[in-house]
Amino acid sequence: PSREEITYFGAGPALLPTDVLKTAAEALVNFEDTGLGLAEHSHRSELATNIINTAKADLAKYIDIPDDYEILFMQGGGSGQFSATVYNLVGIWVERRRQKIIKELGTAEGADVPQDKVLERLRKAVEEELKIDYLVTGSWSLKASQEAARLLGPEHVNVAADARKVNDGKFGKIPEEKDWKLSKDPAMVYYCDNETVDGVEFPGFPEILKPSGEEGPIVVADMSSNILSRRIPVRNFSVIFFGAQKNLGSAGITVVIIKKKLLPPAVSTPEPALLRKLGLPVGPIVFSYETIAKNNSLYNTLNIFDVYIAGQVLKKALASFSDNVTGQEALSDKKAKLIYATLDAHPESYKVVPDKSVRSRMNICFRVTHGDSIADAEKAFLAGATKKGLTGLKGHRSVGGIRASNYNSISLEGAEKLAAYIDEFAKGPRI
Ligand code: PLP
Repeated sequence: PSREEITYFGAGPALLPTDVLKTAAEALVNFEDTGLGLAEHSHRSELATNIINTAKADLAKYIDIPDDYEILFMQGGGSGQFSATVYNLVGIWVERRRQKIIKELGTAEGADVPQDKVLERLRKAVEEELKIDYLVTGSWSLKASQEAARLLGPEHVNVAADARKVNDGKFGKIPEEKDWKLSKDPAMVYYCDNETVDGVEFPGFPEILKPSGEEGPIVVADMSSNILSRRIPVRNFSVIFFGAQKNLGSAGITVVIIKKKLLPPAVSTPEPALLRKLGLPVGPIVFSYETIAKNNSLYNTLNIFDVYIAGQVLKKALASFSDNVTGQEALSDKKAKLIYATLDAHPESYKVVPDKSVRSRMNICFRVTHGDSIADAEKAFLAGATKKGLTGLKGHRSVGGIRASNYNSISLEGAEKLAAYIDEFAKGPRI
């Protein structure tokens, strides 16, 4: 089939706008009449820097990122950030603690602070107090928490909330904030804003994590599968990261939005020797936010072609909505509401997996109960969908069922087509 005949609901990599791909295809062969394709140009060229800076500026404009935040393009995907967040935020926690200890010892014993005393106090602090808090609400935040336990040891990982405990051992709800067991001064509170596999999305920024006064908690969020789909209160976050391959572009680059207060000159990463003395892991240099920020994302060879695609998607987004991401948010909501309403209209044929209060606007997960056997009904549902050009609807292999990924590249017409099919299938013979 041709691209025009297909509406692809896959969870990622996701559909990219055809005009963006056509422009990118030309750029890949001969970029702006330079005789060289974009993947062949040096990442050190002025042209590469321009592409990076324009993409940064357009991203900032589209989702409203304040000036006191830095934007980084990194490699290693969302999974790379499961590790990078740990290395960087633990480093920052250690450095802040070190400064605090020096200050305390300095006032108590005069300005000359004995280094062995600092180390001793720091060791004790790491052993007794270093925690990372995870809100485990689905497969991806679970994976991130497991990576932290692998790198640091499980004793430093605090699962502040486990959604499975409030939903019969399965993901599909978000525990009430009053029941979260947050640590006193965690290196970060980490959560995944939209769980791609389980179809669970935070309805908004958690009240309990809102900054009160100058210094709020260090909040880190994985927004891989819902970035650019709604307005976010960037200032409430210390770090936001997302792989490009769902709403922004092609796989291969990961974006990190980080508060400048977490970068030099405000804080520096501790010396590797100090981390070793404390028994803490030293992260790969390519995962160091400080290093990537210092080099405007060009510490090593970055795939500029990927950044270009992301830049083109952003240009298109900026041209499509006069109110930037707010316009996309309204459209995303409208598409999701339509699909959920159609599913809800046929309770005998479909069961939406997550609780109503946390239904994802991006990944719509449901079971097909239109018959005696769910497996047969889902098979028939998928086969009928494929015939209509509605593809990529199979749920993640770990949970089964159906998943319609309603990313930005799905047009309203695409969502309407799916809703019409959901309705038609339910009205057809039971399987
Ligand atoms: N986080 C979320 C929410 C995801 O959906 C995914 C992948 O689908 C990842 C992280 C992992 O991303 P990657 O495959 O780029 O490592």
